[in-house]
Amino acid sequence: MGNRICFNSESTQEGIRDLDLKMTNGGTSVFINVLCLSGGRLAETESQKRFMVFLAEQNQEIYGNGTIGFDIVEMPWDKNSFGEDKAFMLRVIEGARKKLGWETLLRYTPNEERIYDDLSKFQKLIERMTADDIIEASLSEWLSDISKSAEKDPIRCGFPKCKIHDAYIGVYGCQICME
Ligand SMILES: [Zn+2]
Repeated sequence: MGNRICFNSESTQEGIRDLDLKMTNGGTSVFINVLCLSGGRLAETESQKRFMVFLAEQNQEIYGNGTIGFDIVEMPWDKNSFGEDKAFMLRVIEGARKKLGWETLLRYTPNEERIYDDLSKFQKLIERMTADDIIEASLSEWLSDISKSAEKDPIRCGFPKCKIHDAYIGVYGCQICME
């Protein structure tokens, strides 16, 4: 099992799958944990907060182990704020390297070597993204999916955060602690 983050798993471009970030189930949870902690402290605009909700939704406790990989091109990219959002995601990765928010992880400390390796691979995938790669329907489809959760829709609820981790929460709560 495990999870995989790809640039675009439907692309047939040669060599594109060499960039895939493959992680164990446990490794994926830690990887998403540190991104949620970092982005919770850095997101300012609506589109940036949407990215953090997208990541918070990558929750194996809800959706099951080995079910949460995604494609970079499926993230909620918006043509209108593409440059800003890409720079933001790179800052989130940098913040994770600087251990932003790690002091709130009371139950464990991430394995630095492993997480830095995963963050470097993820950075390469984000760096590869261009405005031309945006799939126009991705954002609206994702927003429509999230809005089906009605009163739990974090976007409609004004982007609530976890009080313990200061991370943006997904439909079913904080990706780190489920509160
Ligand atoms: Zn939490």
